[in-house]
Amino acid sequence: MVNETLYSIIFLDNERNPIPNCYFELTINGHVITGQANNYGEVQFNRQLVESTPTEYKELNLTFWNEKFPKTEHSTTDSFVWPEGKTSIKALMPDTYIINTRSILNEDDEPQEYQRAYYLVRKGDTWSGLEAKLGINKVEALMFHNRMKYSDQLVEGTKLYYPLGFRTKKEKTEKGEKTNSSSTKQQRSQENGKPIEVASKRGGCFCYRDFTVEEIKKIIYQLRDFEPNVKRTLGYSLFSAKNCNIPNSEATYENFTKELNIAMKKYDIDTCLRKIHFLAQCYHESAHFSTSQELGSLEYLRGKSYYPYIGRGLIQLTHSGERIGEIGYKQYFEYIGKNNYKTDYSLLNRDLHFAVDASGYFWKRGKLLSAGNLLGARYPNSRGVKVNYQKTKVSTHTTIDINLVADDDNIYQVTFLINGGLNGIKERISYVNELKRAFNYEINHINK
Ligand SMILES: [Zn+2]
Repeated sequence: MVNETLYSIIFLDNERNPIPNCYFELTINGHVITGQANNYGEVQFNRQLVESTPTEYKELNLTFWNEKFPKTEHSTTDSFVWPEGKTSIKALMPDTYIINTRSILNEDDEPQEYQRAYYLVRKGDTWSGLEAKLGINKVEALMFHNRMKYSDQLVEGTKLYYPLGFRTKKEKTEKGEKTNSSSTKQQRSQENGKPIEVASKRGGCFCYRDFTVEEIKKIIYQLRDFEPNVKRTLGYSLFSAKNCNIPNSEATYENFTKELNIAMKKYDIDTCLRKIHFLAQCYHESAHFSTSQELGSLEYLRGKSYYPYIGRGLIQLTHSGERIGEIGYKQYFEYIGKNNYKTDYSLLNRDLHFAVDASGYFWKRGKLLSAGNLLGARYPNSRGVKVNYQKTKVSTHTTIDINLVADDDNIYQVTFLINGGLNGIKERISYVNELKRAFNYEINHINK
């Protein structure tokens, strides 16, 4: 008798509610099985049918629909392999990623009459102060909408307008924001009544709290152990590659943990899943946390069209970024209040803080896509990128906060936004999976 373990698929709509009795087609290496889910939106299959084995790779995709979500070209998921060790997976309506796009230079689309919310600049306001007060999203919105930069002075009494509709949209989350605006859970100290950070639960869920040094150590050790070849070269060292100029004395687990915690808090990389995806991509892009600069000989790098603005940071910042909104050195340097990116571009390869911070910035700020690009991007399959997309809002460019894609656990889409292609996708997938094990994600993470 063969093993008759049943695996299940649960079909979910864009609100993540099961879709009862929906119709589906499951394609396995090109062969199609059709059927209907049960009352709970669930269907079961024999394990052997869907799970890849060392000798047989099974590429799956799912098409599902019902009356409310009729079958269209967007009813099909991206191709995937059954995740190792999972007995049940959730299939999300593929064209309903809630990716919040942010519009830039969008004045033209506004109606004639409207009320606009604004922020009144107060004495002593600074951009970083506003970020702490309002959150990075609002500050970015203010900045883009008022065509201001981090290097611009804030003048008392100035009205900074929010984009149209911004306030009303935000109001819904205002309460939620209050509770997690600091990203770190706090409680009153029993000794003196002052807020203190809740002690980290060792081995617990990593949502909304800092890593301890021991935890980061354990995670990175596990990643290294996972690839013996990498471990043979690097051991458990951090940023030890020849081309990395971060001083050895700086490249400690203590400092790295500190910087990761700062950046993750600052850029809303605050849930298990967001942290897993961020670390997986950083791990790949930084050659296993060995460098903060694009690999290659000087000769090779000089041959790059974007030299000297080569990849630096953990997720590598490239290109000079002269155009408005473009992610690059110029924009990032403005963000950190510097204007010397043309002479000090190596900052991100010698200062651990900026190497990590720039990566969080890139992650949160998102890859810049033109409206045309986003709609036309045919990735990762011929059916195109499936995003809920506010066409009317975008007249020029938009960015995607990669956190929101990470929320969907979509490695392919995250990789596309980081890499622009599929480079190293196998490794990136394996790092996500290994990090899930290191986080004990399936068991510990409670906010699923
Ligand atoms: Zn969690």
